Amino acid sequence: MVLVFAESPRGHFKKSAFEAVTYGKKVAELLGTDCVALTLGPVDDASVLGTYGAKRVLNLPDASLTHFDSQLYTQAIADACKQLGAQVVILGHTTTGKSVAGRLAVRLQGGLISGATGLPVLAGKNLLVEKTVFSGKAVAQYELSGAVNVISLMGNAVKPEQTGSAVASETLTLALNSSKIRVKEVKTQEGTVPLPEAEIVVSAGRGMKDPGNWGIVEDLATTLGATTACSRPVADSHWRPHHEHVGQTGIAIRPNLYIAIGISGAIQHLAGVNNSKVIVVINKDPEAPFFKAADYGVVGDLFEIVPRLNEAFKQFKAAN
Ligand SMILES: Cc1cc2nc3c(=O)[nH]c(=O)nc-3n(C[C@H](O)[C@H](O)[C@H](O)COP(=O)(O)OP(=O)(O)OC[C@H]3O[C@@H](n4cnc5c(N)ncnc54)[C@H](O)[C@@H]3O)c2cc1C
Repeated sequence: MVLVFAESPRGHFKKSAFEAVTYGKKVAELLGTDCVALTLGPVDDASVLGTYGAKRVLNLPDASLTHFDSQLYTQAIADACKQLGAQVVILGHTTTGKSVAGRLAVRLQGGLISGATGLPVLAGKNLLVEKTVFSGKAVAQYELSGAVNVISLMGNAVKPEQTGSAVASETLTLALNSSKIRVKEVKTQEGTVPLPEAEIVVSAGRGMKDPGNWGIVEDLATTLGATTACSRPVADSHWRPHHEHVGQTGIAIRPNLYIAIGISGAIQHLAGVNNSKVIVVINKDPEAPFFKAADYGVVGDLFEIVPRLNEAFKQFKAAN
């Protein structure tokens, strides 16, 4: 059986949960078994996971799971895995997933692929799973030979597919340890799609010259329904908030479209964005390294090009 942990912060599923269940269903088909989804804490409508391919949906409604607690979540998923006899556990490669996956593999004494980028294939009874390595410069295939294996799935690695129908959520009973963490306050960023889940990202760097110039970037992002990001020096200079910093030391993303404005394309920046499906680079320097990684490039002054691009997108949207 394939167990999928479907993340639901504040009771709502993240896109990564639907991706994980879609992926879990396909892995289950490969292994000739069923996909079972697990949700932790109070959840609004867990039955929807059935539409993404979960045969059963289990919920552990324990109030201590309302807020993320890495130790408690690991215990809950590991105990559920043992109780149900799961062969594979799948979770999203989100902040929560990254924090739990390693602990889970140790607790289950199983294998781990952290940040899988594609669907596995079978090698005998074992799964061969792909992930990118060397800052996205190569793809490696790992063979999972443990009795239980954990896979965390990169965001946007699969498209959520609603191929099934809703199934009633069942309540799972497990004896959990008491939490060592007390949550006093939760502050969340509202309004935009979080970077790891964003399908379109408009990102800008030091070429913007001044934080006061970011209006043209935000306008373009609004037109495209995109999330904004930035290079590290921009965040380090407090021109933009740190949660927007992408790259080797920031967030790694895989949007369908990444628009890089006034960013040179240093290797440390590329490490976090070069898995994007389509990369568009706007830079006045034709020798900027980013052009080597770009699908489309515009050589010119961003202060001229970005507003014109935004206008063109607006006209296109109005006409379609
Ligand atoms: C250990 C380590 C980790 C790092 N991690 C990261 C990381 O995670 N993410 C990250 O981003 N960086 C990271 N860096 C920094 C990285 O090496 C680069 O210094 C950084 O990415 C450069 O940022 P930038 O492209 O915004 O600025 P710059 O390198 O200054 O580039 C600005 C670009 O804007 C262009 N430009 C200027 N004016 C205009 C204009 N009017 N119109 C169009 N284009 C214009 C220029 O031609 C230039 O290419 C790391 C560095 C180290 C050493």
